[in-house]
Amino acid sequence: MGKTKYRFNPETLQYDRIEHTFRQKIFRFFIYFFASVLLAAIYLGVLSLFVDSPKDKKLKREIAEMRTQYELLNKRLEQVNTVLADLQQRDDNLYRTIFEADPIPSSVRKAGYGGVNKYSDLEGYDNSDIIISTTRKLDIITKEAYVQSKSYDELIRLARNKEKMLSCIPAIQPISNKNLRRIAAGWGWRIHPIYKIRKFHYGIDFSAPKGTPVYATGDGVVKKIVRSRRGYGNEILIDHGFGYVSLYAHLNGFNVKKGQHVKRGDVIGFVGNTGLSTGPHLHYGVMLRGKYVNPINYFFNDLTPDEYEKMVKLTNNVKQSLD
Ligand SMILES: [Zn+2]
Repeated sequence: MGKTKYRFNPETLQYDRIEHTFRQKIFRFFIYFFASVLLAAIYLGVLSLFVDSPKDKKLKREIAEMRTQYELLNKRLEQVNTVLADLQQRDDNLYRTIFEADPIPSSVRKAGYGGVNKYSDLEGYDNSDIIISTTRKLDIITKEAYVQSKSYDELIRLARNKEKMLSCIPAIQPISNKNLRRIAAGWGWRIHPIYKIRKFHYGIDFSAPKGTPVYATGDGVVKKIVRSRRGYGNEILIDHGFGYVSLYAHLNGFNVKKGQHVKRGDVIGFVGNTGLSTGPHLHYGVMLRGKYVNPINYFFNDLTPDEYEKMVKLTNNVKQSLD
């Protein structure tokens, strides 16, 4: 616009200087201005399709960096998971076994995931998949670690109770070795002495003279006293706590009352021949959480390894129980 423009005038045959009014000048200025702005915008727009701005480049670098970080975190979570799985395995198979606690079912360990999508907030981004999978992994590990720490709390409680537990769990023979004639029958399939059919024998028969003292095999409370001429005859049930109950059957007489607290080694009754029995003997049974278990595993206090081995042989040899 700084240049002066001329127009040829055929009448005067001269070049006349073109004069513009101020309004025209302003108008032209804006036309040029907007045209160049528009052009610049189009140019930038086209450019940005093919070339990243420094800001774009920085953002892209950041996203790539974060993806790498997430992948690293994922790997580390997997390592933590391996350590945790090892702790869980040791917990179930070692610590909880020592204290006779049931292993924690995996349904409890792995519970609480699935169902409602709690990660919907994280959806809709380019990298949603890795963010969600990492967050989920972390959530699961947190939960499992919590279950594990609860289990350790329980183990600590069990360890504190261990002394009490050791004095309660049946751990001696109910008949003293000096009075014992023989082990008449052990745990397992035996010919029933009266019915003469194969029946499972859920205890051990100790053959001993009538009136021989019968000992409580662990501390506990007399849960039940039965006076009967049938089945197990006169019997005593002792609740030892920790899921254990012991049974003493075919007794001749009682030395305790229902509800009485007894200590291991207390005389609770006397050997007899009551109920379905073919000779004076004590039928001894041990229940753990409502199921009979082989009492042979509960004589650890008063038998030497040799005696124990002898007893295992004896109880396995006899094919007929006294019941
Ligand atoms: Zn028996």
